[in-house]
Amino acid sequence: MTTTYEEIAKDLAALKSPPNMPDYEALRASFSWDTVRAELDLPNGVVNLAHECVDRHAARNPAKTAMIWEGANGSVETYTFEDMRRESAKFASVLASLGVQRGERVFFLMDRVPELYFAVFGTLRRGAVICPLFSAFGPDPIAERINRAEGCVVVTSPALYPKIEAVRARTPSVRQVVVIGDRAGRRGPEGATLDYATLMAGAPEAPLEPTANEDWSVIHFTSGTTGLPKGGSHVHGAVLGHYATGKYVQDLQPGDVYWCTADPGWVTGTSYGMFAPWSNGVTSLIYEGGFSSAKWFELIQRHRVTVWYTAPTAIRLLMKAGLDIPRRFDLSSLRYTMSVGEPLNPEGVVWGLEAFGLPFHDNWWQTETGSIMIANYPALPIRPGSMGKPFPGVHPGIIDDHYREVTEPDVEGQLAVRVPWPSMMRAYWNDQERYDSRFKDDPDGGPRWYITGDRARRDADGYFWFVGRDDDVINTAGHLVGPFEVESVLIEHPAVAEAGVIGKPDPVAMEVVKAFVALNDGYAWSDQLRRELIGHARARLGPGVAPREIDCLDHLPKTRSGKIMRRLLKARELGLPEGDTSTLEED
Ligand code: ATP
Ligand code: MG
Repeated sequence: MTTTYEEIAKDLAALKSPPNMPDYEALRASFSWDTVRAELDLPNGVVNLAHECVDRHAARNPAKTAMIWEGANGSVETYTFEDMRRESAKFASVLASLGVQRGERVFFLMDRVPELYFAVFGTLRRGAVICPLFSAFGPDPIAERINRAEGCVVVTSPALYPKIEAVRARTPSVRQVVVIGDRAGRRGPEGATLDYATLMAGAPEAPLEPTANEDWSVIHFTSGTTGLPKGGSHVHGAVLGHYATGKYVQDLQPGDVYWCTADPGWVTGTSYGMFAPWSNGVTSLIYEGGFSSAKWFELIQRHRVTVWYTAPTAIRLLMKAGLDIPRRFDLSSLRYTMSVGEPLNPEGVVWGLEAFGLPFHDNWWQTETGSIMIANYPALPIRPGSMGKPFPGVHPGIIDDHYREVTEPDVEGQLAVRVPWPSMMRAYWNDQERYDSRFKDDPDGGPRWYITGDRARRDADGYFWFVGRDDDVINTAGHLVGPFEVESVLIEHPAVAEAGVIGKPDPVAMEVVKAFVALNDGYAWSDQLRRELIGHARARLGPGVAPREIDCLDHLPKTRSGKIMRRLLKARELGLPEGDTSTLEED
C-alpha cells in the first residue's frame, strides 16, 4: 500500500444532517431489493423511469423545484416536477404522432438545455429507448452509434444539426430529426427538420406506456477508453439501483440541491444527472457551460449546492488552479462531495478537506453495471485511494484467473460482481457474443460472475482498492504493477498535475514502467526534474515499481468523459496504430 494519508474518521454528530445510512454494516446485513421496490411507486407492476423520476413527485409535490438551470450566459430558469411531467407528457405524444413505437431508439445529440430533459423523459414515457450521444462527437462516431442501434429519431439543436445533416445519407434508419430551437431564436432548417416548439404547441399530454421491469430504457455507449465503444443496454427496472444508490451513496435528502457535473452524453450524466436525483425527488442543478474553476465555485455559492458529484479530472484541474479560488467563495452550503469515473488519487480526496472542509468520496461503477457498485459513504471512514466498500445488495469479489474467489486480503485479481442486480446491463446492443463473454461460472458453484475488466484488491477490512484496467496492468520482471499506484505517487510531487503510466516492452524485464506527466503552472521540464521525480517515486515505491522513464506532455490524452487514455499513450510511444479514437478529447 503506497498511500501516506491516514484514514479520515467520520463523526456522525458533526454532519450537517444525519445520513440516510447511519450504519453501513447494519444496512448491509438487512438490505433487500424488495424493500427498495416497496419504497418506489410501481402501479400494477408498471415500471417506468419517467413515472419514478417525474410523475410520482408531481403527484405528491407538484410545486417542488426539480431543475434549476443556469445557462452559459448566467441566466437562470427553474422548473417544478409538475412542469417536467407536463412537458414530458407532451413530448411523448409528439413521438406518438411521429409514429415512434415502444422499443424504438431515439438519439439525443444535445447540449444541456431544459428541453433535453423534457424530451428524455417524454421518450421514456412513450416506452421508446433513449440513446445519448456526446455533443462534441464528430460525424463518424455519430453515424457509427446511430447505425449500431438503428435510431429512428434524432433530437438535436440548431448548432449541432450540421453533424446530423452530414450523416443523413449514411443513417437510413433515421426517419425524423427534431430540432430544439435555442434561446437566441435559432431553429433547424425547415423541410429537413421538425421544430420542437411547433410540435409541442398543439400536443396533448400522453398517458404513460405501461412498461415493465425488463423493457428497454437506455442504450449507453461506453467511454471507449480501452477500445471500440459497446452499447450497454439497460431496462426500466434499473431505477431500483439509481434510487437506492442515490439514497445511500449520495445521501440525497428532501432539502438538497444536488449538482452532477457530468455531461448527459455519458452514463453518469443520465444515471446520476437525471435518474438518481429525480427518483429521490430532489432539486438538481444543471449548468449549461463547461469546466471553469471560479465559475464552478460561484455556481455552488449562488445556488446553495449541498451535494456535489464530480470526477477526478475536474478535481485535478481544480487543484491545479489553486486553493485561493475556492477560498474566495462561500461554500458553506456544501455537505457532501463525491467523485467517479477514474481512480481518485489520495491527493484529490484530501484536497477537498483543505479547500472546503469536506473530503471527496470516491465510488466505482461502469456503464455495464448501471449504478454504483462500490463506494465510500457518509458514515464510513475513508481510506484515501480506496474505492470503498460494496453497495449493500451487490456482491463484488476478487477472483483469480480461474474465476475462483480470492478470500485472503490484499491479493490482487480481477474485479467481478455476482449476478444479478437490478441495474445490470441486459445486452450489448446487437452483440450477443461479446455480452456473453463478460459472464463466467464460479467453479465453486456460487452465483455467476460478471467480469468487470478491472483489477483490484480487497483489504482485511473489506475496502476495495483499484489497481488498473486489465489491459493497462504492467508486467515488469514478474511483478504486476497497477498504473494508478504509480500515478498517485507522481502527483504527490508539487510539480506534477497529472500522470499516466504504461508498460513499455523490454527484452529483459518484459515491460518497464514508463510515465508521462503534465506539470502544474510555474514548473518547467528539465533533466533535473525528471531525476527528482524518479527519485521521489523510487523512495516511495521501490526501484522495481518506480518508473524507469518519465516524459513530459502539455496534457495527457483523455476521453471526452475525462479519462486518461493509457492505450493511446502506449500506441504513440510504440508507434502503433491508435485504434478507435472517436471518444478522444480534442487537443
Ligand atoms: P470502455 O469500456 O469503452 O473502454 P470505459 O470503461 O471508460 O470505456 P465507462 O463505463 O464510462 O467506460 O467507465 C467505467 C470504467 O471507469 C471502470 O471500469 C473503471 O475502469 C473506471 N472507473 C470508474 N470509476 C472508477 C473509480 N472510482 N476508480 C477507479 N476506476 C474507475
Ligand atoms: Mg469499460
